[in-house]
This record gives sequence, structure tokens and C-alpha cells, in this order.
Amino acid sequence: MIATIPFLESRFKAFNHACFADSLAPVPLRLSRAVRSLGACTYKKRRLLFGKVEYYDFCIRISTQYDLPESELEDILLHEMIHYEILSKQQQDSSAHGRLFRARMKAINEQFGRHIAITHRGALQRTSAATQKPVWRVVARVRLHDGRIGIKVLPRIAQRLKAYRSGLLHSREVAVVEFFWSDDPYFARFPKSSALNLFFPADPDFDQNLATARPIDL
Ligand SMILES: [Zn+2]
Repeated sequence: MIATIPFLESRFKAFNHACFADSLAPVPLRLSRAVRSLGACTYKKRRLLFGKVEYYDFCIRISTQYDLPESELEDILLHEMIHYEILSKQQQDSSAHGRLFRARMKAINEQFGRHIAITHRGALQRTSAATQKPVWRVVARVRLHDGRIGIKVLPRIAQRLKAYRSGLLHSREVAVVEFFWSDDPYFARFPKSSALNLFFPADPDFDQNLATARPIDL
């Protein structure tokens, strides 16, 4: 089956009750067109006083690019729910799938006969022949002080990215410039260049399109 919002919502509720003692707050559940990953738990991170970090603004996204057995789709949702549990309880794991993650995964697998895995790559490989080879692009998301968000696709050259960012930040209108790696075909519509310009498409749903993007730290 292919993930749907009603499916994700009903399973989230059932698993929250059965496996997480109803301890998880409701979270936005979305569908994505990600090709390289089946699920993602996205969040924002802010620094508090004394070097503490807070995670907030969570979202679980499940790809609709794969037709999987229902139980495998459930295991993928459970995988993301474990990430959500750890992050929303402000716990620090030893790595992305570190000690805390593995302990929860093992406990749920044993207690409920699930098959949650660290990666569900097997499913990706089984279906990869049916999907196009993804094209990775460097995408800049630019936040202006007036609240508008612009998009720019850039060449994969660190120096050009730095020059683009510092060039834009010279403008008083620009608040934040962030870079991402994205394989979302949505970004194919933008010309790739390092010119100091910006696009404001009519359907600005970049959060959806950047769901599986990886932030680039320069
Ligand atoms: Zn994971």
C-alpha cells in the first residue's frame, strides 16, 4: 500500500497508545515525495541559556513513492515515532540512531513483534528500479525581514555558496540564508547559477519540498 494521511493518523494514534503509553503529543503527519528515504522526523533546534539545546516544531513525513506491505509502512512510521519521542522529550542520543534509539527499537520489536530497523533501505532497493535516479541540488532558502521566503538553486561549489550568502546578507532586506542538499524534483524548475538573485514562486511550499533535504553547514 501507499501511505495516506488517514492511515498515518490512525496508526499514530494506535501506536502512541500501545507502544508509547499515550505519551506523545499530536504531531503533524505529512506525505512526502522523497525518493531517497521512506520517512523523516523533521524538527527545529534552538540554543537556550547555558549551552542547552531545545528541539521543537516537529513533523513526521512518510514517502508516497513506494508501494509497501502495510506492516512495513507501520514499522517505518514507528521508526519516526521513536525519533519523535527522543527529540520531543529533549533527550540527547549518542548519535542519530544511538543508544536510546536502539534500546527503544529493540523493546518495541520484542514486545510487539515488530520489525523496525535502523534503515529500511531494503524497501528502497526492492523498488529502486521503478524510480528515477535522483538528482541532488544545492538549494538556498532565503528569509527576508518582511517574512517572504525566496529560493535559489546554486552550483555545488562552497566558495560560490559563501559568496552568494555574503552578497545577499549585504542587503538590508535579507535576514537568513540557509543551504540544503535536496533531491526533490520540485527544484528542477529553478535555473542554476551563482548570480545574486532570488525566486519567489507562486506556490511557496518549500517546507514540504525541503522535507528530506539535508542542511549544508558552511
Ligand atoms: Zn532514523
